[in-house]
Amino acid sequence: MMQKNGYMRYFTKQSCYPNQAEAMDKIHAALLEQKVVLFEGACGTGKTLSALAPALHVGRKLNKIVIIVTNVHQQMVQFINEAREINRDNSIKTIVFKGKTAMCPEKLDYEECKLKGENTYDLLEFEREVASKEKELKDAFEKYKKTKDPSLYALRNELEKELEEARNKSRGPRNNSCQKLYEVLRFEGSEFSSWLFSDVRSPEDVMEYAADRDMCGYELLKKELKNAELLICNFHHVLNPDIFMTLLKWLEKDSEDVILIFDEAHNVEASARSHSSITLAELSIEKALSEVGEVPEADNSSGFGGAGTGAGGFGGGNGIPLDEDYANRIHAKRLFSCLLQAVKDTYDSKLKFGERNRLGKHWQDIQISDPYERFDVLKARFLREVKKEGFADEESVLTRLRDIGEFGGRLEEIYAENYKKGLLAVPKRSQIRYVADFLSSYLVLSDRQNYYPILNVRKDWKSDRVYGRIELFTCIPKNVTQPLLDSIFSGVLMSATLRPFEMVRATLGISREVEEITYGTTFPQERRLSLAVSVPPLFAKNRDMPETLDSIKEALLAAVSASPGNVVIYFQSYAEALRYSKLLEPELSVPIFLDEVGVSAQQVRQDFFRAGERGEKTVLITYLWGTLSEGVDFRDNRGRTVIVVGVGYPALNDRIKAVESAYDTVFGCGEGWEFAVQVPTIRKVRQAMGRVVRSPRDFGVRILLDARYQGSLQKKLGKFTVFKYFPPEESREFLDVAPAEVGPVLDDFFSNIKTSDAEKKESGSSTPGSFVPGSLAEKL
Ligand code: SF4
Repeated sequence: MMQKNGYMRYFTKQSCYPNQAEAMDKIHAALLEQKVVLFEGACGTGKTLSALAPALHVGRKLNKIVIIVTNVHQQMVQFINEAREINRDNSIKTIVFKGKTAMCPEKLDYEECKLKGENTYDLLEFEREVASKEKELKDAFEKYKKTKDPSLYALRNELEKELEEARNKSRGPRNNSCQKLYEVLRFEGSEFSSWLFSDVRSPEDVMEYAADRDMCGYELLKKELKNAELLICNFHHVLNPDIFMTLLKWLEKDSEDVILIFDEAHNVEASARSHSSITLAELSIEKALSEVGEVPEADNSSGFGGAGTGAGGFGGGNGIPLDEDYANRIHAKRLFSCLLQAVKDTYDSKLKFGERNRLGKHWQDIQISDPYERFDVLKARFLREVKKEGFADEESVLTRLRDIGEFGGRLEEIYAENYKKGLLAVPKRSQIRYVADFLSSYLVLSDRQNYYPILNVRKDWKSDRVYGRIELFTCIPKNVTQPLLDSIFSGVLMSATLRPFEMVRATLGISREVEEITYGTTFPQERRLSLAVSVPPLFAKNRDMPETLDSIKEALLAAVSASPGNVVIYFQSYAEALRYSKLLEPELSVPIFLDEVGVSAQQVRQDFFRAGERGEKTVLITYLWGTLSEGVDFRDNRGRTVIVVGVGYPALNDRIKAVESAYDTVFGCGEGWEFAVQVPTIRKVRQAMGRVVRSPRDFGVRILLDARYQGSLQKKLGKFTVFKYFPPEESREFLDVAPAEVGPVLDDFFSNIKTSDAEKKESGSSTPGSFVPGSLAEKL
């Protein structure tokens, strides 16, 4: 069957994991039928290859491109490795693509690169013109030498003038072009293409290749995209609609030519949300005002914003021509000044005594709208101000903003021309256009349930100044995901923690036919232990109680003591992680690594790994919503025990409440909590639990430290239990224990594994040892 389908030629392993062959068969059929596959596979089910092999086969057969995306760096490395193996026997043209800013050797931003790029294209055009004029001149001169025809002499003079003009024209672009792109564009051969597709090259490989030749690696890759059969890139390449459209253009494909595979797909919802949220900083409003410049007021400003007050719509007693741009400037000046004032007045009135002094350099949220009712006080304040300035109503403001945005667009064209001519040192965006466009969207969307407006503030300590920023936060991500998933040929959304599928379908707006596939772990059950410990539920009101602290501390110390190697502890928040690291430190004789907020977790993670790999025991204290709960492989000695303290709900800030309320509106009252908080939290907990026991031979313990995880307390805890949110095959393994039993149960488990492994080794068996439940575990 597998051979017949032909996708097995892309399957590079000696043999399939259990269920893998079935998964590939299902995915292959679903992709051919243009479905979207929702694929939850535990660690060790070989998800990546299970999706890639059939997708590549279908892609080649139907001339579709396969795009695989992730938001986790480690996963990208894994994709590159898998693709290299596939490429060895199949020669699949693969490109690994990163953002321009990440690959630019000049470290230039998008805008500057864009304009330098335009200049470089112009320069090549002018150079072609110069070359052709030079040839004409040479021909004319040769003819003149032979014939001495005076008309040819005149022609030669004329051509010399034209040549000089052409040379002059190329001077501006030359000074402001990108030499590395220039080299790429002049380069004609297939040398790069052959090198690129002879293996799977990482972005770093390409950058090195390009640097050796003084070229731009990003542009080299871009030129080859149309030849790619497999593209490996980031979430933002497909979740940002503008970037995706551009990518398709370079691929020379339409959206229906794409087979899209999302890895870590449980993150798509949050990523799509952040890709569609927009912001406007106070500084941008100030810049827009200075771009407007000094605009003398007209004598008679009555009727501002009303119908018919366009070009020449009000009297010009001061003699200034009231052309269209004058009207746009003065409208912009009044509207933007009102907005700036509204922003300042709002944070001034909201910041309580002392709060201003406590602001730091990071943005902090200030509530301007109720997350449930959606009444935006900043917008109301702005509209009150503009009314005083003569704008009749919101509608008239929107009409003016549209004109102002167009005016800003015209300014941008002038800036671009000036930059290309070398008259501007840096390319410039029109802030007038940006502010007008943002303000239009903000006025229309801020009171809608799908969006939530927030005012962010921070303080610059040097100038002692507070800055504000308006953010229009997107609550419902399907605005972005639905059009994407509707338009592609077919796709796979895979993750170890994707369920419940109906929720994925609803939140991402998947309306097309779906194939649902689930495979639990197939690693030997005896080599893992999952405990649910009856410490009192860590509700906010209990958290500081001495008996709660003691009970958690007791269980943590016992677990660390009984674990034969590294222990990872996840707390609900950094504050809790910090509190317990202080509590545990005096009592632990092993080193503690604290994953601190604002400090790269990479070094901490590496040090922790290394200690484990040396056979030492250390403790890593981190938090569930940080960067170490997903995509990190605590295999073998890197991690023997993982502990999740509490249920780990995220801090219920206004954003989450707004998302909850938006989901309530879209999916029905009461659903918001489940969609926005409950399910994402359990997915996080499951991700954290999955950090250890990473292969059939690996072994380890997962401890959930909160009575709400206990199956035996479901009835007693009623609506507070979270046991039911785990897939049954996972929760079935939870062993309910008291804090005092943690140590003995772990001792039993680890010593049995040790004995059993030693016996197997002695007898020469390749089967790993297993946990024979000891007396205490059996009693339980
Ligand atoms: S073309 Fe390449 S090297 Fe030049 S600015 Fe853009 S990204 Fe940088």
